[in-house]
Amino acid sequence: MSFVPPGSGWPGDPAAPDTPVAQNAREVAKLAAESRTPADLTARQSVCRACPRLVEWREEVADVKRRAFADETYWGRPIAGWGDEDPHTLIVGLAPAAHGGNRTGRIFTGDRSGDWLFASLYRTGLAAQETSVHAGDGQRLIGARMMAAVRCAPPANKPTPEERDTCFPWLARELALVAGTTRVIVALGGFAWQAVWPALRAAGFTLPPRRPPFGHGVEVPVSYGAAPVTLIGCYHPSQQNTFTGRVTADMLDAVFARASALGTL
Ligand code: SF4
Repeated sequence: MSFVPPGSGWPGDPAAPDTPVAQNAREVAKLAAESRTPADLTARQSVCRACPRLVEWREEVADVKRRAFADETYWGRPIAGWGDEDPHTLIVGLAPAAHGGNRTGRIFTGDRSGDWLFASLYRTGLAAQETSVHAGDGQRLIGARMMAAVRCAPPANKPTPEERDTCFPWLARELALVAGTTRVIVALGGFAWQAVWPALRAAGFTLPPRRPPFGHGVEVPVSYGAAPVTLIGCYHPSQQNTFTGRVTADMLDAVFARASALGTL
């Protein structure tokens, strides 16, 4: 079992050795509610130990590693929200990958899905670099912020409903802390589409009474106070979807160009 100790010099580590650690669902809710800034919140997210199965899995993967990354130190901790602290566009996924974010310490970084995603964000002006390889590689989001509904890599990429619910306050609080500037939310895949809906409501967004079916490019008008906000569906750039052509670079670019245009109106 291994993980990077908080505050030990990992680039971009949001936590310090004395960052409070949530050990169960009740403590997640309490620490999330008490976080006053995205920096406070991401520090606490990044050391959370509330889901025993996921803690064991993420640390075991970090210990055993994949052969191609045998010489690397794996992050082995939750993947905190990352990006602009005053974003106009949020990008919400389901959960990090065992040898992607769980290795590199940054969301959507170090796997094929992330390669597709960051290339599109770069082409549409939302990222500073075309690639995202590792925390500390100089990559930066421009007016955008990324977060996952479940912050720890789950076995077979499938969190349980209980794990999703335990992690919910981290997502809802992060949405609330950046709601004032947010104008667009892009949900990557049907699971993220489902997960973000109640979190938006809990964060104070006003939503239609029913959640429309997920689809690529589907737009739902929501609001935050008097500000119009748009929720957009986007097929996940998973290897299965990109191999089969279900999602193409042009399709991703269309969604993120639309997000960028709405976000900077
Ligand atoms: S999935 Fe979320 S709630 Fe569970 S241990 Fe990871 S960060 Fe904590």
